[in-house]
Amino acid sequence: MARVLITGGAGFIGSHLCESFLRRGDEVVCMDNFSTGNRENVAALSSNPRFAMIDHNVSDYIEVDGRLEAVLHFASPASPVDYLEMPIQTLKVGSLGTHNALGLAKAKQAKFLLASTSEVYGDPLVRPQREDYWGNVNPIGPRGVYDEAKRFAEAMTMAYHRFHGLNTRIVRIFNTYGPRMRMRDGRVVPNFLTQALEGAPLTVYGKGTQTRSFCYIDDLVRGLHRLLEVEHHLPVNLGNPREMTVLEFAKKIIELTGSASEIVFHPLPQDDPQVRQPDISKARELLGWEPEVSLEEGLRQTIRFFTEKLRA
Ligand code: UDP
Repeated sequence: MARVLITGGAGFIGSHLCESFLRRGDEVVCMDNFSTGNRENVAALSSNPRFAMIDHNVSDYIEVDGRLEAVLHFASPASPVDYLEMPIQTLKVGSLGTHNALGLAKAKQAKFLLASTSEVYGDPLVRPQREDYWGNVNPIGPRGVYDEAKRFAEAMTMAYHRFHGLNTRIVRIFNTYGPRMRMRDGRVVPNFLTQALEGAPLTVYGKGTQTRSFCYIDDLVRGLHRLLEVEHHLPVNLGNPREMTVLEFAKKIIELTGSASEIVFHPLPQDDPQVRQPDISKARELLGWEPEVSLEEGLRQTIRFFTEKLRA
């Protein structure tokens, strides 16, 4: 039985991770400062004696008593709207927060997993994106606070691996969706779903020709556990290679919700990546992993969650 620390454990991905470790019989220490995380996400876990919650900002020195076998660093704003509202905190959690989490992993001789992102590829000039692509990032643009923080976090993680011999993993997570996404976090899945369910127009940014590839949360979590089981220190993409335009995605949401909403077009945010599609050859070979949940099935689960949220 392992004892693991999950930073950002009350967030969307973090809370699913907490749950999956508990289900396996492990002990979970969840750390969150609730800047974008939500107590409700872990409320059902709090009665479990193997679950502990620490209210703490990981950009400040981290202290955790007792043993830890793994540190999973998932704390960070992850929606463009959030990191535009919290640019300094976003830079701090990616840099100082990652440094603190790595230092803790080193002190505990624990495995370390960094939640990195497809945003390290910026507005990519290649498609699909393989792990050996260095990316096309505007460091001083509005998204730079997230992209560069995560790029720094990757560099720091590799330095701890190379210099201190820390047992590290880096996952580059592509767009992931599912229950417990924050309804008003500004990302495309919560936006389109709440709009469709409320009968409001779906707000497509730009012409909607930009592409994204959406991975269901359960598939991602399964991939993360696989990655922890193998020895591999270089970055690994996890995402669903099924790519579509944002306009196609809006139409799919209207179809699956049976909504009468129309589509309206809003200006494209600055530096919005034009394409995004993971090349998951490495995950396939290394982890024997690939997504199993279809977009339709994953969206049905997510629609059920948002429908209940809106009713509450
Ligand atoms: N988007 C959109 N309408 C919305 C929210 C987002 O058209 O109401 C677009 C956004 O411009 C981007 C894509 O959907 O091209 C995905 O945006 P999201 O904020 O989910 O995250 P990103 O993939 O850009 O990090």
